[in-house]
Amino acid sequence: MARVYNFSAGPSVLPESVLRRAAEEMMDYQGSGQSVMEMSHRSKTYDAIIKECEALLREVMNIPDNYKVLFLQGGASSQFAMIPLNLMTGSGKADFIITGQWANKAYQEASRYGETKVIASSKDKTFSYIPAWDEADFTKDADYFHICMNNTIYGTKFTKLPETGDVPLIADVSSCILSEPIDVSRFGMLYAGAQKNMGPAGLTVVIVREDLIGEPQASTPTMFKYSIHADNDSMYNTPPCYSIYVCKMVLEWIRDEIGGLDKMKEINEKKAALLYNFLDSSKLFRGTVEKKDRSLMNIPFVTGNEELDAKFVKEAAAAGFVNLKGHRSVGGMRASIYNAMPIEGVEKLVEFMKAFEAANA
Ligand SMILES: *Cc1c(COP(=O)(O)O)cnc(C)c1O
Repeated sequence: MARVYNFSAGPSVLPESVLRRAAEEMMDYQGSGQSVMEMSHRSKTYDAIIKECEALLREVMNIPDNYKVLFLQGGASSQFAMIPLNLMTGSGKADFIITGQWANKAYQEASRYGETKVIASSKDKTFSYIPAWDEADFTKDADYFHICMNNTIYGTKFTKLPETGDVPLIADVSSCILSEPIDVSRFGMLYAGAQKNMGPAGLTVVIVREDLIGEPQASTPTMFKYSIHADNDSMYNTPPCYSIYVCKMVLEWIRDEIGGLDKMKEINEKKAALLYNFLDSSKLFRGTVEKKDRSLMNIPFVTGNEELDAKFVKEAAAAGFVNLKGHRSVGGMRASIYNAMPIEGVEKLVEFMKAFEAANA
């Protein structure tokens, strides 16, 4: 079996032990004679899986009791509409910091449903930094304040949070959830597509403070109401059963094999430092992000020469380091080193980059 080192930004690498267990349980899940893909989502067997997944997420992330966990579909992208439909129901206003394409999409979609304001943006330098903000600009009676915590495409992350007072802070954590501990109580809501750090595509996780779930805007489709999913324990309709099952195993891996999120952070910091230290010392490669705002998960870099970038991506793929091509809006390369990327993968990538540098200097 030849597994590659997969640096995809998403869907992305999963822990090998989880994949093996999924394979072992494929034909007969725990004596049920079926795979999890095939069984009724209303069965006792499946009920235990979804309940365990939620319990594990609460345990691993230390989610307070006054937050609901929802297992939804439609990707983080559907949340760009669900958030304003459900939460822009007071003043009808919301604030945004624009740190990339995802943050901008959340802002644009919300602008269809209410009055939106951009508090800060880093568009002037291709989103290569987290912009400063001035609290005096915040909308005092906003229904929420939205940020994208880790910017998957550009490789930046918020290292401090805006102090929004009574205004609920909402963060898209699609590409950083479970990568390090996060104080859930600082937020009104967190949401993430699962396909970066939690499991397969198809599952979207919403963690929302109970008191924020109210009556949505009048035209909201039933499937887009948080209240419907909360009242039905994410079983209003068929949930993304198999993705939830894999997510449950990923959470078990974090808790039992890694040792929790503090440990996960330690490992992620070590992995990121390996690559950043090399980029900082390299004469050929350089990182594209301001050092203070560097992501732990997504690391974009360039040689400064497009032909050489393309050559690198091609030779890397041939050597078993795949999906290193940068996002089409940034160019160059991007190594996404999510939780499941083993440290050897980063060590070997750095060795490969050193050899490439020596051969192409
Ligand atoms: C991948 C990603 C998205 C889009 O997620 P979908 O599940 O494809 O809708 C949104 N925000 C961030 C930060 C992402 O990394």
